[in-house]
Amino acid sequence: MAGKSRHIVHRGARSPFVLDVSRLGLRPGSMITVAQTVPAPSRIGVELIAIPEGAPVELDLRLESVSEGVLVSGTVSAPTEGECARCLTPVTGDVEIYLTELFAYPDSATEATTDDDEVGRVVDDTVDLEQPIIDAVGMMLPFSPVCREDCPGLCPECGVPLADFEGAAAPHQHDVIDPRWAKLAAMKPAEEQPPDPAAGGRR
Ligand SMILES: [Zn+2]
Ligand SMILES: [Zn+2]
Repeated sequence: MAGKSRHIVHRGARSPFVLDVSRLGLRPGSMITVAQTVPAPSRIGVELIAIPEGAPVELDLRLESVSEGVLVSGTVSAPTEGECARCLTPVTGDVEIYLTELFAYPDSATEATTDDDEVGRVVDDTVDLEQPIIDAVGMMLPFSPVCREDCPGLCPECGVPLADFEGAAAPHQHDVIDPRWAKLAAMKPAEEQPPDPAAGGRR
């Protein structure tokens, strides 16, 4: 598989998601495959979880010449890192998206009848998958990732992760004194204290 993609070169310092399609030669029916791993050019994802910048992104794609342009289809997968929305512990995982993107040839009817934010363009014999990948990954990742489905989150009183106390002999809890009782406790007369013999009697 790797041999088939050796002619897909990245030009200059462009995004690794920009692929050269010159080998397709505007011949409808011709097809090349891309099976390679490239570093993520930036953090890709949502607020709490994303593909980190530089993480290995696996491209497994078919690039086909069709009459109007280049049809790119296949999977893109990468590791993800983020934090649990409930307890803030780091979470890691993987994301896999399936892409089907048409890039219109210059001077094609599709180019003439669509905006470039609807249908991508073949520019200088390249297609740029960056925006489609960013969009698809953003749709796929959870808005509120959790370390596990039943994560109990943090203690609302003191902020410790409640998962740390699972299986403990006693549940994590705080002695919450009703404010009214707290006031009474403060007013408790000194007489109720056991007499302190060392003090030599009481007032
Ligand atoms: Zn959690
Ligand atoms: Zn607590």
